[in-house]
Formats: sequence, structure tokens, C-alpha cells
Amino acid sequence: MQTNFSLTNLADSNMAQSEQILRKCVHCGFCTATCPTYLLLGDELDSPRGRIYLIKDMLENNRPADAKTVKHVDRCLSCLSCMTTCPSGVHYMHLVDHARTHIEKTFQRPMPDRILRNLLAFVLPRPMLFRLSLVAARLAKPFKQLCPKRIAGLLDMAPANIPSPSAHDAPQSFAARGQRKMRVALMTGCAQKVLDPKINEATIRILTRYGVEVVVAPGAGCCGALTHHMGKADASHAAAAANIRAWRGEMKLSGLDRVVINTSGCGTTVKDYGFMFRDDPVLAQDAATISEIACDVSELLSELDLKPTGDTPRLKVGYHSACSMQHGQKITKLPMDLLRSAGFEILAIPEGHICCGSAGTYNLLQPDLANQLRDRKIKNIESVAPQIIATGNIGCMVQIASGTQTPVVHTVELLDWATGGPIPQSLKSEAGNIGEFISHR
Ligand code: SF4
Ligand code: SF4
Repeated sequence: MQTNFSLTNLADSNMAQSEQILRKCVHCGFCTATCPTYLLLGDELDSPRGRIYLIKDMLENNRPADAKTVKHVDRCLSCLSCMTTCPSGVHYMHLVDHARTHIEKTFQRPMPDRILRNLLAFVLPRPMLFRLSLVAARLAKPFKQLCPKRIAGLLDMAPANIPSPSAHDAPQSFAARGQRKMRVALMTGCAQKVLDPKINEATIRILTRYGVEVVVAPGAGCCGALTHHMGKADASHAAAAANIRAWRGEMKLSGLDRVVINTSGCGTTVKDYGFMFRDDPVLAQDAATISEIACDVSELLSELDLKPTGDTPRLKVGYHSACSMQHGQKITKLPMDLLRSAGFEILAIPEGHICCGSAGTYNLLQPDLANQLRDRKIKNIESVAPQIIATGNIGCMVQIASGTQTPVVHTVELLDWATGGPIPQSLKSEAGNIGEFISHR
């Protein structure tokens, strides 16, 4: 694609980067076929190619974002399916991230939108506040008819059960069992440890069982993705910088072989820290190192020669590959291979490349589109009749679980169970289609 950025404009490294990305696009439109919003809306401006044109026009002229551009960029899930499809290697993720930052700086959203976005950006990355707001939402649920539609929708999403915090998430070190093979930092995250603290517990259990010392570093927290996807660059960089400093501290103290992440949405962001901080005179080198050693928990588990006990039932698992896992990190077969080797039967889900509609805060900010995608995803999953659904991203777990009776678990919980850990909580407590079987165990 021909571009026409001024030299002054190109002096900004983000502009220069976006210009390089734009030049790679050859307008072929292959990406439209796999874009969830184009599939739903059929509008070129809701396709990757259409958004690329809008973003080009906005950045090239370095003009403030207009309502039309904001509407179509806001509707983008950042699912990155278009990056998997694109034959020209267009790095849509960095382009849309830049567009979102530009929008945030130059566009005045209507007051209710601003309040909602600022509230989410402030509350979600802070576990204590998030927990309190979930409790408040649960109490307010019976009165939702009195609330505006958007607020009522948010109240609907509050889970019925809010688990107690886990002692595992406090800064500490968990010794490896037997001979230590490596030392890793676990990113315990923010929203996940409030919504389902058992995931971190299962991760620590299985890793230490296989000789990995796991440290929860003091000072590490939210990866910054939630605010990053809202274009709030200062907040996302502050969160990322805190993690980089925390893990650098651990590296200097006793060495770190990996930073392990069990939420693929966060993994995509941490693996991008090197790019985010490329111009930072202080943190660039450390950020690049962290990105190099960052891995999804499934990547690390595949190195550990797991030994299933053989005691777990051969359940039919519908594996949902989160967009951030398959498109963001290009991890596709690995989690399924691990589950298969652990004794589960893996069912292929139709339209597996299409987003479930969770996408960070997307289901809160674009509930209509998100619900359509969720319903479509669940229809596809249920068409293969799994006994359980497994995935590696808490956002997808919550989104899918909100529309099906089939229990939804994290991949690592199943692998932990199959190698000597306890049955995942949701299989014990949910009245799903395997409830009877589980109750006998
Ligand atoms: S597939 Fe790639 S090159 Fe083709 S229009 Fe989409 S982004 Fe551009
Ligand atoms: S990131 Fe997803 S929703 Fe956004 S343009 Fe690409 S395919 Fe479409």
C-alpha cells in the first residue's frame, strides 16, 4: 500500500513503525474471510482491510480521530485472526494498538463511555477493587431492572460465586519437588486470580511436581493488556514496567529460566514487552529479555515429560483455542497434544479460529457483538457434544461458561488432575453432563 507520511510525522517512532506495517498491505482482502466482525456485520469498514484504510487515513494525516474511525476500531476484537490469515505479514496488532493510543489521545468520547472505560481501566487490574466491585454487582443484581441497559448488562456478568483469595498468589517461593530442573516466575495476574484462583494453584502444583521452583515475585501484577487494548498507554506501560522490574529483581537474586503465564491474553502482551519498551533508555534491554523467556504454561509443560497416572476418565474434551493463544502466540496443537497424551479425547470444534467474543474488556464494551460471537461459539462447541470444555484463557472461560451448562476448565487444571492433582473444582461442583461420573470419584 502506498503511503504519504510527512517526514515530521515519521520522526515519531510509532508513526514510522505504523507506516512500515501499512506499506506491507496489498489490499488483497484475504483477511476479511476470517474476521469475526466482518462475518457478523458484512461491512468492509468492520473488516481488517477497512480498518487499515481508516487507520492509514487518520495516522498519515496525523489528524484527531473521528467518530467513524473510532466506531470501527472499537468494534475490532484484537483477536488477530487477520494476522494468521494475511499472506503479506501485516502486523495488524501493532497497527491497531497504535491507532487505539492515538484515539485515546485525540478523541473525546461521550461522557458515559468515558466513565465506563475509566472505571474498567481502574478497577479490573486491581484485584482487591475488582473483588469488591463483583460483590457490589452481585448485591445490586436483583435491582437491575432499575438500571440503564448497559449497567444491567454488566450486573448480569457478575458471577454467582466469588471465590476466596488464594494464599498461593502472595509473593513467595514454592520449592521444586525432587531435583530442581529450573526456576520460573509465575505471573499470577489480576482478574484471573479473583475469578478463579484455582488456576494458579494447579499451575504451581504441576510445575513443582515436575521439578520446577516457582516464584511469585513481589511487585508483579497485571500485565497491562487490559489498559493497552483501551489505548491507555501510560497505564499499560506502568503495569508492564512494574512487572519487568519485579522479574529483573528475581533474575538478579537467584536467576530465572522462564516467566510462566497461564492466561494467553496476558502471554501475548508479555511476549510483546520488548517491542513496547524498544525506545525506553532504561528498560529496553530487560523488557526484551523478559519477552524472550516468557512462555505459556503449555509450552513449559511440553518440556517436562508429564507422566499421567492413568486414573482419570477418558473424557471428551472440546478444546477452545483462545485467539491470543492461536493467533497471538501461534500456539495451536501443543495444548491439545498435551491433553491427548494425558488421556483425554480431544474433539475438533468447527470454526475454531473465530473469537468467542471475550477479548479482554470487549464483552463489557461491545456486549451485542460479544454475545452474538459467544452464542455462535457455543453452538459450534455443542455441535460436537463434549463432556467438558478446556481453554487456556480466563476471559474465554468466563465468556463461554456464561452460555453453556457444560463445565469449562483451564487446560492446566486438567493436566494437573491427570498427573496426580485433585479434580478441577468446576467438575466437582457443576451439574454438567459428567456430574454423575465425577460424583463417583
Ligand atoms: S490479508 Fe493482509 S495484505 Fe491482504 S488486505 Fe488483509 S491485511 Fe492487507
Ligand atoms: S483483530 Fe480480529 S476483529 Fe480485528 S480486524 Fe483482525 S480479525 Fe477482525
